[in-house]
Amino acid sequence: MIGRKFKVLYTDYNPFCHDCNVKMSCNGTNSHWINKIREVRKQEYICPKCKYSYVTKLDFIPKNCNYTTLVQEKGLKQGLIEYKSLEKVAETIRYIHGHEPSRQTVLNHINANSEKYLGKIEKKLDEKIKKGKIEL
Ligand SMILES: [Zn+2]
Repeated sequence: MIGRKFKVLYTDYNPFCHDCNVKMSCNGTNSHWINKIREVRKQEYICPKCKYSYVTKLDFIPKNCNYTTLVQEKGLKQGLIEYKSLEKVAETIRYIHGHEPSRQTVLNHINANSEKYLGKIEKKLDEKIKKGKIEL
């Protein structure tokens, strides 16, 4: 196992064209670098009838982004524990994931995800409050 390289290919299971309702054909693969360190392939499909094509979507990576949602939320999570400079946050991400995003990238991820992420935490707290029947 040591020294062997593996290819990872993401595919959709048995896709059909939404317009023609015929089975889509495979049409090559596209390369994608997850977190800028790991190359994976994404299957491309084409409809044999209308020629509509699409590439398998990776739902754990936001559109037009190189970083997974998990890595993007790392900056936010670290900021919730204690104050940390963007440089230190980027450095910590490098220790864990092997690639250091720029400070600007870390800031972009924080700005893009803070509302959604903090909303998730707020929702969990609301559920806990309801379960505990605590009134504010
Ligand atoms: Zn079609």
